[in-house]
Amino acid sequence: MMIERNLVIVGGGPAGMAAAISAYEQGVNDILLLERDQYLGGILNQCIHPGFGLDYFKEILTGPEYADRFIKKIRDIPQIEINLQSLVVDLGADKTLTILKPGLLQQVRAKALIMATGCRERTREMAHIAGTRPAGIYPAGLAQKLINIEGLLPGKEVVIVGSGDIGLIMARRFVLEGASVKAMIEIQKQAGGLLRNVIQCLDDFDIPLYLCHRIACIYGKKRVEKVGIIKIDDQGNDIPDSHFYIECDTILMSVGLIPENELIEMAGVAIDRKTNTPLSQELNKTSIPGVFVCGNAFKIYDLVDSVSGDSGQAGVLAGEYLKKKN
Ligand SMILES: Cc1cc2nc3c(=O)[nH]c(=O)nc-3n(C[C@H](O)[C@H](O)[C@H](O)COP(=O)(O)OP(=O)(O)OC[C@H]3O[C@@H](n4cnc5c(N)ncnc54)[C@H](O)[C@@H]3O)c2cc1C
Repeated sequence: MMIERNLVIVGGGPAGMAAAISAYEQGVNDILLLERDQYLGGILNQCIHPGFGLDYFKEILTGPEYADRFIKKIRDIPQIEINLQSLVVDLGADKTLTILKPGLLQQVRAKALIMATGCRERTREMAHIAGTRPAGIYPAGLAQKLINIEGLLPGKEVVIVGSGDIGLIMARRFVLEGASVKAMIEIQKQAGGLLRNVIQCLDDFDIPLYLCHRIACIYGKKRVEKVGIIKIDDQGNDIPDSHFYIECDTILMSVGLIPENELIEMAGVAIDRKTNTPLSQELNKTSIPGVFVCGNAFKIYDLVDSVSGDSGQAGVLAGEYLKKKN
C-alpha cells in the first residue's frame, strides 16, 4: 500500500531535525521524519566532548546536549511523525521512497523531500597507503563510536593519519582512556582542523604533529605492528633518507568525509563527481524540483551550529515549494 505525505525528511541528525522544525514553522503539516538508527541526533550522539552550540545557543554544550535541545522540541510537535529504525533503501524520480523497517518493507510518496543523510568517512583504501592489511586500522569517527557508545577501546598505541577535527578530538580521547598516541601525521603544511582543537587536543597532551609527512607503508601480520613515515618537500616529493618508523597497534584514519548522496543520485539528481554533493548554485537546492538536501549531505560543515542554521533554510524552501504546488 502506497502512503502519501506532504513532506518527508530522511535523516534525524541535527540537519534533519532543524529542517523539520522550520518546515512546521512555515505551516507545513503532515511531516514524516525517517531515521535508520534507534535514536535521533545523528553523529552528535557520539561527540561527547564540549564545543557545540556557541553560535546557535550562545552556550558551550556537548554533542548529546546540543542534540537533546532539538529532540525535545521536535517531539513536542504532533505534526511531525518520527519513524526510527527506518532505513531508506531506494528513491525514485517521483519522490517515492522505499523504507526498510524491522520485518517490513514500506513505500511512501512525498510531495516534497528533504535529504539530511550526513556523510561517511574516507578509508585507508581511499588514501592509497601501501602495506599489509592487518587488523587495527579504523576510521577516526568509527573509533569514536566504539569508545563513546559501545565502551570499547580499539587499541593502546595509536598513530593518527590526517589532522582534521575528528582526528584531533580522538587523539585526546584515546589519551584520556589510557592509550598512548604516538604521533599525528599530516601531509599538508598546516593542520586541517580548528586551531582550538590543535591546542586543546595535541599541544595540551604533548602529542607530536608531523606536518609535511606521509605514511608510506603499514606493517603487521594479524595486527598493525608499525608504520613507515617519510618527510615530503614543498613539491610533495619524498625527501631521501627521511624515512623513519613508529611502532603502534592502531592506526586512525582522519582523511576526510564524503557526503552521502547515493539515494538522490539514484533518483536522477545531478551530482558533482569531485565532492559527491548535488550540483547546485543555491543552498539546499537540487536539480529535481521539490528535492532539497541539507547538512553534511549538502556540504561538509566544520560546526554543527552552521548545520542547524542552514538546514532551517531547507525547511523554508520545502514550505514555499508546497505552497506553490497546492
Ligand atoms: C567526530 C566528529 C566530531 C565533531 N566535532 C564537532 C565539534 O566539536 N563542534 C561542532 O560544532 N561540530 C562537530 N562535528 C560536526 C557535527 O557533528 C556535524 O556537522 C553534524 O552532526 C552534521 O549533521 P547532519 O545532520 O548533516 O549529519 P549526521 O549527524 O551524520 O546525521 C545524518 C543522519 O542521517 C541518518 N541517515 C543516513 N542515511 C539514511 C538512510 N538511508 N535512511 C535513514 N536515515 C539515514 C543517519 O543515521 C544520521 O542519523 C563533529 C563531527 C564528527 C564526526
